[in-house]
Amino acid sequence: MRRSGVFLIKDMKVTKFGGSSCADATQIKKVCDIILSDPERRVIVVSAPGKRFSSDIKVTDLLIALADAKISGQSGEKELKAVLDRFASICEELEIPDCMESIKENIEESINQPVKDAAHYMDATKALGEDSCARLVSTYLTKIGHKATYCNPKVAGLLLETEAGGHVKILPESYDNLADLARLRELCVFPGFFGYSKEGEIITFSRGGSDITGAILAAALHASVYENWTDVDNVFAVNPNLVKDPFPVTEITYDEMRELAYAGFQVLHEEALYPAFVRGIPVNIKNTNNPSGKGTMIVSKRTHYDSLVTGIAGEKGFCALNMSKYLMNREVGFLVKVLGIIADEGLSIEHMPSGIDSVSIILRAADFTPEKERRIVQRISLELNVDNISVNRDLAIVMIVGEAMANTVGTTARAATALSKAGINLELINQGASEISVMFGVREEYCSYAVRTLYKEFFG
Ligand code: ASP
Repeated sequence: MRRSGVFLIKDMKVTKFGGSSCADATQIKKVCDIILSDPERRVIVVSAPGKRFSSDIKVTDLLIALADAKISGQSGEKELKAVLDRFASICEELEIPDCMESIKENIEESINQPVKDAAHYMDATKALGEDSCARLVSTYLTKIGHKATYCNPKVAGLLLETEAGGHVKILPESYDNLADLARLRELCVFPGFFGYSKEGEIITFSRGGSDITGAILAAALHASVYENWTDVDNVFAVNPNLVKDPFPVTEITYDEMRELAYAGFQVLHEEALYPAFVRGIPVNIKNTNNPSGKGTMIVSKRTHYDSLVTGIAGEKGFCALNMSKYLMNREVGFLVKVLGIIADEGLSIEHMPSGIDSVSIILRAADFTPEKERRIVQRISLELNVDNISVNRDLAIVMIVGEAMANTVGTTARAATALSKAGINLELINQGASEISVMFGVREEYCSYAVRTLYKEFFG
């Protein structure tokens, strides 16, 4: 049956709209125009209304404040009003008063549940932003004469599980369950950001997680493209807050995007690419305020290169655990023991640049607490008898990323020379085996300066 559904709708696009695209009635009208302008846009994912202006508050943040108030035993009246006012103003302008009634009823029913478990209560409340927005968009589409349905993630079978450590995992059967949406004849409006546990509890992804919902649906439905509509024309080669009018990226691979996201490049949720990547579904980032723009395509294989380097990014919050021991290279099992000690503390290793007699383990500073540092340093000193061991905190990682670099001689030298001419000391250099990125460790205070210096070198 499902397969026949897939035949019915050839070249289906999964189209996700972010918070700024759903921020008010004007934006939601643009969203509906975009949906209706292409018959292949069949499955729509929406975020909760985001900021209308820079000092505005996202509906998700209003809901978090509401859940916090309720969890701490307050009435939450003021917070509830702020949430309802946002939806009421949208529904009023879209002239869908009945929808506001049902949104209000649904929100009140959910928040009036007793707080049995604070984490579950928080998740259920946070999900109300996306849930209400999906109801609202499907109602408005119906009102203007198009068949549209609100799709509940529980009914559709988006099953999630919270792993130890709080990471949210998609249960594999979700993909088969969600594939059935292809059978729907009408437009399906699906709330982003949450799914359900097997026990029927709401589970939300981390912030920005509607991107993940869109990618899961695109993968489940074998979409021809996963469109991700936001408020910028393109992905840029560097953070536009650091460089004025940066170079636009028209095409980028999943691998390049992943490397850049790692170093603080914030376009899509870090985990959102994975489901699309596994099934080779291209992702198109587009601007709701400029729908005719081509946007940025994220693909498995590039068709062209506009520049040698695709993007440059920098992220603070790293530290290096450095150790050296004479003849370390001849000592069988040395690294295994070091890694075992670090694993015993539950830490994951970010990078591990090494020399003949020395190795540096790069960790996230937030996880490498002073107590863990003390225990690890003590154990490595005693159990491995190293000559020197030190910790270098306040490090930033700056990366240049580009698949074209793999076939070009001298890119690392160019980058290192530019940084040295700018007076930036390199604490470490690391190049991954794929040769699509080079990573430099610099002191945190030089992070933005290093990114700008590299941008100037490669983009002029
Ligand atoms: N509304 C959620 C947030 O603000 C999820 C999302 O927009 O993707 O993080």
